[in-house]
Amino acid sequence: MNVLEQLAESFREMVKKEPPASHFAGGKQVVCGHCGSGTFSSRRVLVRGPLSHCLVCTKCGLAMWFETSPGRGGE
Ligand SMILES: [Zn+2]
Repeated sequence: MNVLEQLAESFREMVKKEPPASHFAGGKQVVCGHCGSGTFSSRRVLVRGPLSHCLVCTKCGLAMWFETSPGRGGE
């Protein structure tokens, strides 16, 4: 199975989808590495084991993965 197939399967296994918001990880706001946007939709995804957290940039669609849940803006 190649990486793209794994990603596609991960998205099929999506268990929760939240509305777009700013997020914080490690005390810093998460900023898109591609377009610089600070608004992401957060998804909790099962990837063959522990629950992972996926932030998808609402502007360009770049996906970033976290093992621990990034906090939402204001938390
Ligand atoms: Zn982006």
